[in-house]
Amino acid sequence: MTKNDRQQGTNTRLAHAGHDPHGYFGFVNPPVVHASTVLYPDAATMVSRKQKYTYGTRGTPTTDALAQAIDELEGSAGTIVVPSGLTAVTIPLLAFAAAGDHILITDSVYHPTRHFADTMLTRMGVEVEYYDPHIGAGIAGLLRPNTSIVFTESPASNTFEVQDIPAIAKAARQAGAVVMMDNTWATPLYLRPLDHGVDISIHAATKYPGGHSDVLLGTVSANQACWERLHEGFVTLGCCAGPDDVYQVLRGLRTMGVRLEHHRKSALEIAGWLEGRPGVARVLHPALPSHPDHALWRRDFSGASGVFSIVLDGGGQKETHAFLDALEIFGLGYSWGGYESLAVPVFLGDRIIAKGPYEGGLIRLQIGLEDAEDLKADLERGLAAAAR
Ligand SMILES: *Cc1c(COP(=O)(O)O)cnc(C)c1O
Repeated sequence: MTKNDRQQGTNTRLAHAGHDPHGYFGFVNPPVVHASTVLYPDAATMVSRKQKYTYGTRGTPTTDALAQAIDELEGSAGTIVVPSGLTAVTIPLLAFAAAGDHILITDSVYHPTRHFADTMLTRMGVEVEYYDPHIGAGIAGLLRPNTSIVFTESPASNTFEVQDIPAIAKAARQAGAVVMMDNTWATPLYLRPLDHGVDISIHAATKYPGGHSDVLLGTVSANQACWERLHEGFVTLGCCAGPDDVYQVLRGLRTMGVRLEHHRKSALEIAGWLEGRPGVARVLHPALPSHPDHALWRRDFSGASGVFSIVLDGGGQKETHAFLDALEIFGLGYSWGGYESLAVPVFLGDRIIAKGPYEGGLIRLQIGLEDAEDLKADLERGLAAAAR
């Protein structure tokens, strides 16, 4: 695709990004290259290291196809493709943090990110501090001369607070810290973090890009200033993804726009409907006008995906379990972004700041591609069971 194609619609770009069929015998899809060894025509080429592909861990036409598609969507200078969403978090943190550094992480971060920071990063001599997701420009007060990374995730995992990313990015940049954002919820279709001052955008491609709950993958995209160091960290760690998984995600990307549109519509319809239901104290969905951060979400995001939480009106674990156990269509399972609806009880015991209070049990819902009326009937079953 050429630069002018930025004017093309999202679905047009999703359909064609990353692969030119005429570059590979006219086949619509790119080849799945299984590779460790790459051969060189002669010794001089071998030692020059100038050949485009040199070894399987450093990239193949298959990983390049996905990386280029993501670059086009994110507006990034380069993208690495890694084996899971969690490695898409840990690799950039390892690449940019050093002993003696101080790093800032939003308190409402995806739990395994926090676990990595509190264990491995801390053992390596990195000081980790958690901040209020609503801190905005106030982050300036926490930045120190040795703050190397400000890690953001918006909306928040499970509780859906929206961060003022441009304000945080501006303050962090002024202090010389790299700004990372876990952008999994919005996908690059509903937010392009680099346009808002973020340096590194992270995705669990396991979620909407994969779309079928059958593959694990992560992508990390950097601006020009951070690309070289990110790529160097990736190559140094040797943490490359398998070609079949990469292909699956590229395949998923082609339909992500139409799938997301359905997730978006159904989730918003169901979230609005849940707001009026007896037994529901609150619905935590940033695209609802009642959400406290709705204005911020509207300013920066162009859409909402299919994941949000509800707060039951009173009760505790017993009511939450009754709700979950009564569901027949929603599955009880971690992750999201697949075609099927899921529900999980939310645990906030790891939080220091963004921990409520909430009126009752917190349940996260992923609205899948099923018919919304059937999902509503299923949620009615859950609410009735919780009320009993
Ligand atoms: C799921 C998720 C991850 C991790 O992705 P995996 O592929 O499951 O390792 C990271 N960040 C966020 C926000 C997620 O929801």
